[in-house]
Amino acid sequence: MTENTTPQPAAAAAAASTLCESCAGVQQNWRRAKGHPELVQGTNRMVAHRHGSVTITKYVCERCGTVWEYENNKVNRHAGWSVIG
Ligand SMILES: [Zn+2]
Repeated sequence: MTENTTPQPAAAAAAASTLCESCAGVQQNWRRAKGHPELVQGTNRMVAHRHGSVTITKYVCERCGTVWEYENNKVNRHAGWSVIG
């Protein structure tokens, strides 16, 4: 008799993509979109682009632990908030 005890990797992926209500309300990839008050600012990093360097700031949500990055890029209006973890 063989038991199927294979772990389910899908469970981890589902947990990582669960945004709280506040995070779900943040408009992604839109430069002038606002974050929400429960995002805690983390580190900044500079990234060199063809048109100059941009600053990317990392944020972590206190409520659901989602990691966000905000790209402040004047020449790309689709830069902005994105979920990275
Ligand atoms: Zn959240």
